[in-house]
Amino acid sequence: MNSDNKQILSFLVFAFVVLLLVLIVIFSGKNRESAEKTLPAPSQEKTKPAVETFHETSLQHQTAAEMKENEETVGETIPESAPAPQKESEDIESAEIAGGVDVEVAKDKDSTVDQEGFLHGKILPKKGMEEALLKVPGLQLKHAMEISNAIRYDVDLTQIKAGEDFKVKFDKDGNVEEFVYYPDIVTFHVLKRDPTEKKLKYTAKILPTERRFRIIEGTIDSTLNESLVRREDVTRNIRAVTVGILECIVSFSTDARKGDEYRILVEDRYYKGEMVPGSKVLYASYRGKQAGFSEAFRYEDEDPKSAFNAHYTDKGKALIPSAMRLPLDTIRITSPFGVRRHPITGKMTQHHGVDYGAPVGTPVYAVAPGKVIEVKQTPLGGKQVTINHADNTKTYYLHLNSFNVSVGTAVSARQRIASVGNTGRSTGPHLHFGIKSPQGSWLNPLKIKMIATPQLDAKRMPRFKTQMKEIVTLLDNTAQYQEWIKKYDEGPQPGDFYKQYN
Ligand SMILES: [Zn+2]
Repeated sequence: MNSDNKQILSFLVFAFVVLLLVLIVIFSGKNRESAEKTLPAPSQEKTKPAVETFHETSLQHQTAAEMKENEETVGETIPESAPAPQKESEDIESAEIAGGVDVEVAKDKDSTVDQEGFLHGKILPKKGMEEALLKVPGLQLKHAMEISNAIRYDVDLTQIKAGEDFKVKFDKDGNVEEFVYYPDIVTFHVLKRDPTEKKLKYTAKILPTERRFRIIEGTIDSTLNESLVRREDVTRNIRAVTVGILECIVSFSTDARKGDEYRILVEDRYYKGEMVPGSKVLYASYRGKQAGFSEAFRYEDEDPKSAFNAHYTDKGKALIPSAMRLPLDTIRITSPFGVRRHPITGKMTQHHGVDYGAPVGTPVYAVAPGKVIEVKQTPLGGKQVTINHADNTKTYYLHLNSFNVSVGTAVSARQRIASVGNTGRSTGPHLHFGIKSPQGSWLNPLKIKMIATPQLDAKRMPRFKTQMKEIVTLLDNTAQYQEWIKKYDEGPQPGDFYKQYN
């Protein structure tokens, strides 16, 4: 080997080593980068308000508009007055409790006993309370059934969301001593064993929250739903409720135009500076070139579970006046439609209706005009009434205490037909309400838009007018405040500008 070749070889070796070093540096840099990427950003996570999973704790009853809450997509179609028959599979899936939020569930570390002796668990995606409870080590079906039966009258178990927390403590005899379900930072549903009655007794602890209001407004490029999807300040629930309200009073399919304007007033709740899930849409309006101006106001009775709590026009008219009426004045869902654990047998069974908890003697109303075709008593359903409606839809009212009608009676919508009872196979006073389509399949009543009244009655109108006035004042004040904030952010303003809100 001559010296020239030696030089070339040593140069090649040198170049190879340099290349290797460069590659190592680049590669380790990339590794660090990807390692950084997989790390969570704790600061971002903390400041982000927990509003993704909406849970209206103070108002369990869903209005027609709010029923769209759990649907994946909200189309802008005008609601049909007659309920469309639904596929059985859809019903079963939608009736399975809890939203489809992808969250981590009951890890081993959550199941260890804490200092107070509680075992911790989380609500599972698309599963009932009982299924989540059964994941807790040592918790048996009898415990799960005792807990869910003790809590279902006070907590709407159709509204539980994946990822929410609960904890359970056993006494020395292996019975449930205490159970706490806390879906958010301010709401604590507590079951404690009463030593004399030996039964689980329910109490609720709701921490005081601060109410804040904001206006969400904008113009429409394509559809209202798409305009709202793009906004970070609009949660899925606010969007669904707003679209649900406005599609009742605006014919989107024919009248929506690019550039049309929407305005929404939202009430948020805060606890120690953190937003609590459960924002409410108090008002929604739409102004369109073709559609004109439409608006709707939220009305609320004192009872948060009142069937009348819903959105109405400024004249107190229901948004879908032709919809079926709710069968009771107070809506307290104790068991949903679809596959569920039977409250007595604990077995997974298909539930062909919805159960509403109510005291014995509570009036039960016909949901639509029709003719009574059955008044009978059976071992399972107890005292029951069946009504056939004009389109051959049939409605079923079970476990009644007494009847106000007989076979052949023609009834009008919301005519009293019976009283709530506890007859047949039943764990407590409630109304089982079922709807069968003209084709003979059971429908999910919670998927069908139902109202309490087409027009708020004379007794409720003064309250509605007061609430409407409050909303209008809130709209003005919130708009002024938001305008002020906008200017504040723009930079220095005249001296007296700062006096208004500081
Ligand atoms: Zn039932």
